Amino acid sequence: MSDPGIPPHDAVHPPDRERVDGAGTVQGMVISLESVRAGYGGIEVLHDVRLFAGPGDVCALLGPNGAGKSTTLRVVSGRLAIGGGLVVIDGAAIRKPQPARLAADGMCCIPEGRGVFPNLTVEEHVSLWSGRRRAERRDLMNAVAERFPVLGSRRRQLAGSLSGGERQMLALSRSLRPGVRALVCDELSMGLAPKIVEELYGYLAGLARSGVTVIVVEQFADMVLSIATRASVLVGGRIRLAGTPGEVRAGLHDAYLGGGPEAPVSVT
Ligand code: ATP
Repeated sequence: MSDPGIPPHDAVHPPDRERVDGAGTVQGMVISLESVRAGYGGIEVLHDVRLFAGPGDVCALLGPNGAGKSTTLRVVSGRLAIGGGLVVIDGAAIRKPQPARLAADGMCCIPEGRGVFPNLTVEEHVSLWSGRRRAERRDLMNAVAERFPVLGSRRRQLAGSLSGGERQMLALSRSLRPGVRALVCDELSMGLAPKIVEELYGYLAGLARSGVTVIVVEQFADMVLSIATRASVLVGGRIRLAGTPGEVRAGLHDAYLGGGPEAPVSVT
């Protein structure tokens, strides 16, 4: 079955490092999963998963609890070995977990639960993420304060005492580091008020406009589909639906209710 939203595999070889013109733009990463199988302790969780995101894309990965969304992000960010299929990032096949190399190449991963340390201040997080040089720390702190003013005014506050929305802003601030070319983010909206979620999605949309490749996992479709350029629905470890945000919105109900993992993949 073909999916017009996903280019043929040879379209990602060599890497399509499309230049996006304008101040502050970056070259995004091309991320491609083909027939990926992966799991834990011999139990397969992902079955033949296909996913593509290129520079400037916001790829929404939707699906119910336990569908395998976080597992897919672990594969993308190089933290989980695959049992079959192909993961190609920037034209190179990733054959074994290598999160440090992918991070050095510009992949920023925000795990579920926000990936911040409650006992460190905002400023200490910024120090962790920036280089050793004081100027780099200062520049990143300035970028964080400019993009998220509330964090600028709370730079000496412990992350554990920030609100949920502020903690998610802090987690996303890692993507303001120079050299970030892809952001993969798990459950961005979890437990947050709609207004905050809207602001955070505005941030993701801006990142993508600058050329960064964004993959975001969500259980709730509405907000993410309003900024996504492509979307996939994962059910029972299989991509049940993939296409444009409009196509996925139209088929979402059926995809969620479409039966168990053995139901046929419906690709618009
Ligand atoms: P949720 O929205 O609830 O986080 P999800 O779509 O992100 O769900 P995953 O977290 O990827 O789903 O989990 C998919 C399946 O893999 C589940 O059955 C889960 O129990 C299992 N699983 C996830 N992590 C592990 C692990 N570390 N060890 C063993 N099984 C795991």
